[in-house]
Amino acid sequence: MKLPALLHPVINTIFPTRPTCPLCHNPHSAWTIGSVPRLCAQCTRDVTQLTVSLCHVCGRSGQGALCSDCQRVAHVFFQARAYAAYEGSVELAIKALKYQGDRRLVPILGDFLVEAFVRFYGDDMAVVPVPMHPIKLKRRGFNQSEELARHLSRRTGLRVVMALKRVSEGSSQTGYSRDERLASLSDAFDFNDELFSVGQRSHEGYHARRIGGRGTDRGRKRPRGEGILGEQVLLIDDVLTTGGTADACAQILFEHGAVSVNVLTVAR
Ligand SMILES: [Zn+2]
Ligand SMILES: [Zn+2]
Repeated sequence: MKLPALLHPVINTIFPTRPTCPLCHNPHSAWTIGSVPRLCAQCTRDVTQLTVSLCHVCGRSGQGALCSDCQRVAHVFFQARAYAAYEGSVELAIKALKYQGDRRLVPILGDFLVEAFVRFYGDDMAVVPVPMHPIKLKRRGFNQSEELARHLSRRTGLRVVMALKRVSEGSSQTGYSRDERLASLSDAFDFNDELFSVGQRSHEGYHARRIGGRGTDRGRKRPRGEGILGEQVLLIDDVLTTGGTADACAQILFEHGAVSVNVLTVAR
């Protein structure tokens, strides 16, 4: 909520430091109530939202209904969508969050994710963040995908399910062929069995259903956080590049009973 300009000198006296834009560090031109971080007008203008002429599958912009990559190779996930192009302010913000640990960017990028969720999906879905390897998590102190997923959850009421774990770093580096990267990535993730350490292991019900039997989970209301059996899953990451990470995650989610896996990222 903007405060009238008349009040600015008064507030300047009470709070001598004006809130600044977390990206360019310029002071905001208008005072707002509350201390929610936000980008300045100039940094906001530098965001290219991805809204039209997107590839039906991977969300790439400007190549028609099915981009050249998706015509060549099928993805495991159903559809990937992103809020904006990975450039300008969004690229800077994601890098500042990941590499400088600037957590003020979580609500800003998280709100972008919420907007993209409403724009492209909007259904009831189980939110699963792309996991980080425990060693990397210890080094960084947080997993940006989980932070973004939790922000989305707070804003929408969707539940977060930590259904995946990262068991090796894999190699997303350039210099490897696409096939080498995909093979490495498919070994990098696993299902997070700790989810089922208490109570019934839900995917037993899934296998019973798959072979035509009556799954033990059918019709049973599962407590929050119990898993992804029969769920529409929304996989959350900060950036989608080749889609290899999302495919590797989607593969495991389908194997453990997800009925659909769609992807939402801040950028692509
Ligand atoms: Zn700025
Ligand atoms: Zn595509």
